[in-house]
Amino acid sequence: MGHAAQFDRGGHGGGTAMSFEVKGWCPGALRPMASGDGLVVRVRLPLGMMTPAQARGLADAAQRYGNGQMEVSNRGNLQLRGVSDDSHRPLLADLAALGVLDADLALESRRNILISPLWQSGDGTVDLAQALQARLMDLPDLPGKFGHVIDIGLHRVLAEAPGDIRVERGLSGGLILRADGADLGQPVSADGAISALIDLAEWFVASGGVAMGRGRMRALVARLGPPPLARELPVAAAPRPAPGQTAQGLLAGFEFGSFAAQTLLALSHLGRPLRMTPWRMLLIGGLSDPLALADVPGLITDPDDPLLAVRACPGAPFCPQALAPTRDLARALAPMVCAGQIVHVSGCAKGCAHPLAADVTLVAGPGGFATGLACAAPDVFGPARSAQAILHEPTLFVQSGAV
Ligand code: SF4
Repeated sequence: MGHAAQFDRGGHGGGTAMSFEVKGWCPGALRPMASGDGLVVRVRLPLGMMTPAQARGLADAAQRYGNGQMEVSNRGNLQLRGVSDDSHRPLLADLAALGVLDADLALESRRNILISPLWQSGDGTVDLAQALQARLMDLPDLPGKFGHVIDIGLHRVLAEAPGDIRVERGLSGGLILRADGADLGQPVSADGAISALIDLAEWFVASGGVAMGRGRMRALVARLGPPPLARELPVAAAPRPAPGQTAQGLLAGFEFGSFAAQTLLALSHLGRPLRMTPWRMLLIGGLSDPLALADVPGLITDPDDPLLAVRACPGAPFCPQALAPTRDLARALAPMVCAGQIVHVSGCAKGCAHPLAADVTLVAGPGGFATGLACAAPDVFGPARSAQAILHEPTLFVQSGAV
């Protein structure tokens, strides 16, 4: 399938001599990514939702064609792990039958759309997402990681989620289109929002936002300033979501965003639509009774669960780039972190599990974990210590205010 040919070597100038591969594209179902435990197949669910029948089918496919492990990505996609080259093709046939596969790679690559999991019927979110889906081929050629966010509630719930162009609500109450990294957005009408989004994407390309097939809006805005017509502030960001009740249903989380296919199967038996989120959680639509989740294995339903405070990628041996295991250390650190703080343990400087700054970031290198405070993984420099040394010396949490 030519995955390796897509890889190239990225650099990292950190003091811990760490490096990682920068692929410049996101995996999909048609173009999966090789990992330490087989192919990672990322399913971009239409409108970020699964019906109960689709959830059953996806759980079955994860067991039949993969190793039964699944994940919610930080773009709100569903990942199946441990798929082999031989099982990839029959898996695609099942995904097509379930209605969750794009017609071709061009469409899949462009359908990088994250919508608020807390959308309400009639609030315009689905209309905007469908209008954007219908015009994906009108967008200019954009880098593979370039994404669109639709987050038009009265508070922004996707402020920390990755995206390059954001459709949000402005302080005046109307819609705005905001380039990631810009403070202000361009007022737009619901009917004109997608045409304006395409214009903004063309501005990004014409302004030099793409180099060697890569580039992000935030970097361009940092270099050039905001795009023309940006003049309205967005509404405030909502607090970080947690497991529990919402107006749309119950949010339930997973340790590191990972879960077994049996969990998805059990959730499908509830007979509710499931909405994906970029928060390592699923939203079980229309459910209000938490007792209904009592028999579903592997869920985090307590909003104070310490595991919600830690982020960790699969690490070694599951990712070929990982320089150490990550999740055992993150589990051990979780009780040391108080509410509101985030600790990120990364298997390399790429920082896949949490692209943003965390209160404490630990990055594996050849000699152990380097530590950074209030920064993202690629910005972590300095001497390395073993996992054991870190666990026996919690000073860094005191420094960060995490305990
Ligand atoms: S951050 Fe983790 S998952 Fe991402 S490339 Fe590095 S080791 Fe792999």
